[in-house]
Amino acid sequence: MDFRELEREMIRTRRDFHRYPEAAWTEFRTSSIIAERLERLGYKNLRVGRQVINPDAVMGRPSEDEISEHIKRAVMQGGNLGWIKEMNRYTGVTAELDTGVPGPVLALRFDIDCVEVCEDESSEHRPVRENFASMNTNLAHACGHDAHAAMGLGIAEMLIARESFLKRGKIKLIFQPAEEGCRGAYAMTQAGIVDDADYFLAMHIGGALPTGTFGVNSLGYMATTKLDAKFTGVPAHAAGSPSSGRNALLAAASAALAIHSIPPHSAGKMRVNVGVLQAGTGRNVIAPNALMKLEVRGSTQEISDYACSRAVEILNGASVMYGTDLELIKTGESLTAQGNEDLAQLAAQAVKNLNIFDFIFDSTKAGGSEDAAWFMHRVQERGGKATYMALGSTITAPHHNGSFDLDERAMLYGVRAMTAIAEAILNN
Ligand SMILES: [Zn+2]
Ligand SMILES: [Zn+2]
Repeated sequence: MDFRELEREMIRTRRDFHRYPEAAWTEFRTSSIIAERLERLGYKNLRVGRQVINPDAVMGRPSEDEISEHIKRAVMQGGNLGWIKEMNRYTGVTAELDTGVPGPVLALRFDIDCVEVCEDESSEHRPVRENFASMNTNLAHACGHDAHAAMGLGIAEMLIARESFLKRGKIKLIFQPAEEGCRGAYAMTQAGIVDDADYFLAMHIGGALPTGTFGVNSLGYMATTKLDAKFTGVPAHAAGSPSSGRNALLAAASAALAIHSIPPHSAGKMRVNVGVLQAGTGRNVIAPNALMKLEVRGSTQEISDYACSRAVEILNGASVMYGTDLELIKTGESLTAQGNEDLAQLAAQAVKNLNIFDFIFDSTKAGGSEDAAWFMHRVQERGGKATYMALGSTITAPHHNGSFDLDERAMLYGVRAMTAIAEAILNN
């Protein structure tokens, strides 16, 4: 295997995905290119879109009209038309490499969506300087999932090249849509994607770890629920008949302040955030509508549930107070996650043997929530083992910031680490 060439190819792929970022459930270009590449590499059992998603379990997907627009955009931006048709309006890809000898089934998961944030347009930002900045307005690969997708394809290539070293079992590659906002993993687990998996591995690039380091067990992912709250009031002339109106803007504004005043929980970390608030139709009209996008998180399920039930009480209370109607929609959800110690240790040993990392952490601290927790729970509750790993890559700005960029050299480290761990699991 020519590592130099593999690295160059991954950088090309990552920059291509970076140029055309796609948010949750709209990853038609990205998914179709992944499917095209996997097919060319010789992967069998390729499943895409609707075949890997249970639509009844989907959270936070755009409207059918918006999906249609994104399909057109993806085709215009160079997506593979045949695969996009095959996807049947849903995104995501899975593929299998089967040794043909009975043995462990290992699932490797890579998330592929971008963040809804505007990319830095200054020349300080390397994607601008080197001409691979986002072409899609208000969307950017500011979490590194462009590198995750490129690494998934790199691993796919490396596994084919090293197929003769795999003694038994099967490797399943999962390219997951809609990680941001914890929207996609649940729908994949409900399509049975990891029901045959004995082992599950996922990995995130960046975070607090510099290039040349690796963590085998990320701890502290928070349970979370994401909600949309839609207030509907009654419009009225703001001067002539204000008393006949019902003010949705004030209901939402009161709720926003009260949600941020929910008392913290004594048993652990709690987070609440109202991230979007849109209301009203005109200066002289009592605002008849308001949309709030909020999320709650907790270091335990109990704390997250506490914050969620308090937020829902506040939303209902504010709606009653202002005489509006309220519709609540759950747009995302995830769980706490705990990696299996023995699997993490096996991974650490396999990575140590490579001798390419300056430092390997037995455990690292995660900052937010992770959609992969659904996969981990599903595999663990069926008797399998899972861990979430951290790939060091020096970053230029925090995740989800428009100036985020990563050290592309880390991708080869990540591919070599994951391939070594996969071989260790299958040949164990
Ligand atoms: Zn993210
Ligand atoms: Zn991420």
